Amino acid sequence: MRAAIIGAGPAGLMAAEALTARGVGVDIYDAMPSVGRKFLMAGKSGLNISHAEDADVFLSRYRGDARLAEMVKTFGPHEITEWMQGLGIAAHTGPTGRVFPEMMKASPLLRAWLVRLQEMGAVLHPRHRWQGWDETGALMFATPDGAVTATPDATILALGGASWKRLGSDGAWASLLAGKGVATAPFGPSNCGFLVDWSDHLKEKFPGDPVKSVRLWTDGVGGRQETRSEFVITERGLESGGIYTLSAALVDALARDGKATLFVDLLPDIEDGAIAAKLARPRGKQSMANHLRKSVNLSGVKLALLHEATGGPLPADPAALAKLIKAVPIKITGTAPLDEAISTTGGVAWSALDDHLMLGDMPGVFCAGEMIDWDAPTGGYLITACLATGKAAGAGATDWLQDSSR
Ligand SMILES: Cc1cc2nc3c(=O)[nH]c(=O)nc-3n(C[C@H](O)[C@H](O)[C@H](O)COP(=O)(O)OP(=O)(O)OC[C@H]3O[C@@H](n4cnc5c(N)ncnc54)[C@H](O)[C@@H]3O)c2cc1C
Repeated sequence: MRAAIIGAGPAGLMAAEALTARGVGVDIYDAMPSVGRKFLMAGKSGLNISHAEDADVFLSRYRGDARLAEMVKTFGPHEITEWMQGLGIAAHTGPTGRVFPEMMKASPLLRAWLVRLQEMGAVLHPRHRWQGWDETGALMFATPDGAVTATPDATILALGGASWKRLGSDGAWASLLAGKGVATAPFGPSNCGFLVDWSDHLKEKFPGDPVKSVRLWTDGVGGRQETRSEFVITERGLESGGIYTLSAALVDALARDGKATLFVDLLPDIEDGAIAAKLARPRGKQSMANHLRKSVNLSGVKLALLHEATGGPLPADPAALAKLIKAVPIKITGTAPLDEAISTTGGVAWSALDDHLMLGDMPGVFCAGEMIDWDAPTGGYLITACLATGKAAGAGATDWLQDSSR
């Protein structure tokens, strides 16, 4: 018995592990010359692979998606930590519960994982771009040596979302599945940057600058969403950290109203009244910029954000200025391009899949990872769900292959 896994990201590799562990031979195909490119990119500034926190809080990150919640309950932070340890990589949990491999990078983990998979009999086929099924039902691949077909006993598709195309996840599979009648939702950006019409001054002077230790909030469809974090100014708008945390609410607001407002509290640890009192001290001949720097330690990009909000001079009245500092409005005009998003929503609809992640209308074909229509914030929740669905699809495919009553 052999299974084909198409897509060698975390979801596909975990599915391969589940199959090989129960004696099923596995061929892993990927379009790229090497595997796990997005996984490696995720590890560039520290691979946040999961999140250790209260179980209810953890499950709430999957936004009420009951089927996904069941899978991450079965293979969640605890199991991922143990699994990494089994590969000789200790886990490190940061002060906010983020779980990383001890050396932070993804490459030692991926290397150890690939060695173990190959020892268990998995065969890697890079540079194999899947192109659908031929009229006999065989899988078709384009390779540098020409067209190749394969007729596995089961297939797991783990083709990723539709962002960072240069790493392999181009979403081109969506039309292949839609052509087979599989229900899919259109791709949308998640954990993404947003566009703002900055003044020339802000665009020229502050791109790449972090805005640290702030409180951010917006009013999404599900009510107010808030976070204590930082973010980064880009030439076109905002990205990173707290912006990704609020991205689902901002995307909802943009879809609902065509616009969205992000509010920033520049001094979250000081009350309005205390700020106003400090600002009310006589400033003599000092400029407003110096006064703000000396009295409440606001300068640089934070000062620029205050000027962006007023479009000119700042309020002279200390109480009004304090109010602005505590809630700087930033008008969001749209999302940054889909290809730049950390993850994408949309893809294979849950309604097309049974409880083992098999396509209802295509017996023996399973799906896993970001290609399924779920969403989660950054913080380790994305890779956790990819590993959990990979595990579930691998187990589902093994059960299906080994079901003697079939
Ligand atoms: C910059 C960045 C940082 C991130 N950081 C984190 C983080 O710290 N924590 C976290 O949880 N998540 C993070 N993510 C998200 C995470 O990397 C993805 O959610 C995850 O990699 C998705 O896994 P997957 O296996 O579903 O798909 P992918 O990893 O996208 O793998 C899909 C594979 O399918 C292959 N493929 C696609 N089409 C075909 C085809 N037609 N034929 C053959 N092969 C094909 C691709 O080449 C690719 O190798 C980050 C993402 C980015 C872009």
